Amino acid sequence: MLERGFILKKKFLLILIPAAIIFLLCSSMYISHYHHSLFTKTFKNNIERTTNNPSTKENTTPQKVVSNTTSEVNKPEEIINHPPDIATTQVKDRPLYEKEVFLTFDDGPSNKSTLKILDILKENDVQATFFVVGKMAEQNSNNLKAIHDMGMDIENHSYSHDYKMYNSIESCIEDFNKCDAVLKELINKDPSQILRFPGGSDNGVSKIDTMASIRKYFKDNGNYYIDWNVSSTDAAPILVPTAKIVERVTEMCKNRKFVVILMHDVDSKTTTLEALPIIIKYLKEQGFVFRTFNDITPTEENELVKLKIANR
Ligand SMILES: [Zn+2]
Repeated sequence: MLERGFILKKKFLLILIPAAIIFLLCSSMYISHYHHSLFTKTFKNNIERTTNNPSTKENTTPQKVVSNTTSEVNKPEEIINHPPDIATTQVKDRPLYEKEVFLTFDDGPSNKSTLKILDILKENDVQATFFVVGKMAEQNSNNLKAIHDMGMDIENHSYSHDYKMYNSIESCIEDFNKCDAVLKELINKDPSQILRFPGGSDNGVSKIDTMASIRKYFKDNGNYYIDWNVSSTDAAPILVPTAKIVERVTEMCKNRKFVVILMHDVDSKTTTLEALPIIIKYLKEQGFVFRTFNDITPTEENELVKLKIANR
C-alpha cells in the first residue's frame, strides 16, 4: 500500500509540476501582453488628446473637411522618427537670436529642383521651410518625402495654387484643407496653423473685400499666414540672373535682423539653385541663425506680426 501510494504520488507530481509550469508561463505571457497593449493605448490616447485639445491653436484652424486617412497604428512611430511639428508640441519661449533668417521655398515639391535644394541645404547644414502645393506634392510625392525625411519644415501653400480660390472664403478654406489632407496622407503631417497664400496675403489678384474677409477668417481662427520681407525676385516670369538674385537678397538683408526670404522650388528657376549657396554663405558670415516655423516660439510669432511678415 505504501509503495502503491508512493507511485500514485509520484504520478500525481509528474502531472502536476509540468501543469504548474505551463500555467505560470501562460499567465506571465498574458500579463506582459496586457501591459504592452495598455502602454500602447495610453500613448496613443495622449497623442489624440494633444491633437484634439480644443485649447491648442491648431484645433481652431478651419479643418472641417480633413479626413483622417492614416491608420492610428502609424502615428506614434511617425512622431518619434521625425522632428515634432508645432501642431503637436508646445514650444518653450526664449528671446530672439541676434539675427534670424527663415529660408522659404514656394510652389514645390518640383520634379528636379527639390533634391538639388536639399543637397545644398545639407552641405551647408541649414534648415529651411517648404511651402508646398498639394497637387505638386501628389505629383512629386517622393520629393515631398525627401523634404520630410531631412527634417525640413513643410507648410501649406494651398492645393491648387489657382487664384480662383479667392472667389470666396469657402473655396479658399476648401483649397487649404485639401492640401492639409494630401500632407496627412503622404507624410502623416497634422495640419499646423502656419500657411502661405498663393501670391501672398496682399496679392493683387483677388477682390480687395474678399481677400480682407479671407485674411480675417484665417487670423480669427488662430492661423499665421506668412508673407516675406525679402524677395529673391525669382518669381519673375523671365529667368532672373544669379548675380541679381544674390545682390537683391544681400542688399535687403543688410540692415535687417529678422528676415523671411522668398524663393521658389520650381524646375525652371535654375538660377535660384546657383544663388542659394552664395546667399547661405553670406547669411552665415553676417551671423544669422537659420530658423523654421515648425518649432517657432511665441516671441518669434509676435516678431513676425510686428514686422508685418505674418497676419498683416
Ligand atoms: Zn506660390
